Amino acid sequence: MTRRGNLFIVSAPSGAGKSSLINALLQDQPADMQVSVSHTTRAPRPGEENGVHYHFVSKDEFKTLIDQNAFFEWAEVFDNFYGTSRLTIEQTLDRGIDVFLDIDWQGARQVKAVMPESIGIFILPPSRKELERRLNSRGQDSETIIARRMADAVDEMSHYDEYDYLIVNNDFDTALNEFSTIVKANRLHLAGQRITHNDMLDDLLAD
Ligand code: 5GP
Repeated sequence: MTRRGNLFIVSAPSGAGKSSLINALLQDQPADMQVSVSHTTRAPRPGEENGVHYHFVSKDEFKTLIDQNAFFEWAEVFDNFYGTSRLTIEQTLDRGIDVFLDIDWQGARQVKAVMPESIGIFILPPSRKELERRLNSRGQDSETIIARRMADAVDEMSHYDEYDYLIVNNDFDTALNEFSTIVKANRLHLAGQRITHNDMLDDLLAD
């Protein structure tokens, strides 16, 4: 019997450094960890590749996938649709691989409802001032756009208490270390360890 992978849900407002933390944790491409590639109806940004960053689909294709019950969770975020493929997640977890979902609070709620053992991690910026600075770092956007980003960020942050763990990303290396610690601790959870070390436990406990 193979130990099932853990499902980690990672949410944050834009500007908290979520993608950088996930990328840093998985940069050596460990065989037992994967980031889920979502479907989205938004247009690719420069440098984004289909099938790598997202599966880019039309609204009609997305609706067909909803009708086919192909999504483990889906949500409308900032006027676009985003969803996580049910089959890919189930198959990857069954192979004993930990899966990271980079999704918003609406998706997180759906995942927790169907898979309560999934592990929710919320990442916060250290202060409102620092968040404003990060959201405005390009310095080219209008005040209206920045105000909208800030309002969206506050809306996302208001759901922090629906998660199991909270990381404050003030210093990146500290936050990465905390993220990695959460992942490692959950891998040592009794339910998984019991399966991984089944033979050893039988041997240790033999009369
Ligand atoms: P972006 O368009 O900047 O890549 O992502 C916008 C937001 O959508 C982020 O908060 C991201 O976590 C969220 N998101 C990305 N993929 C999914 C998904 O499959 N489901 C849900 N619910 N949210 C997603």
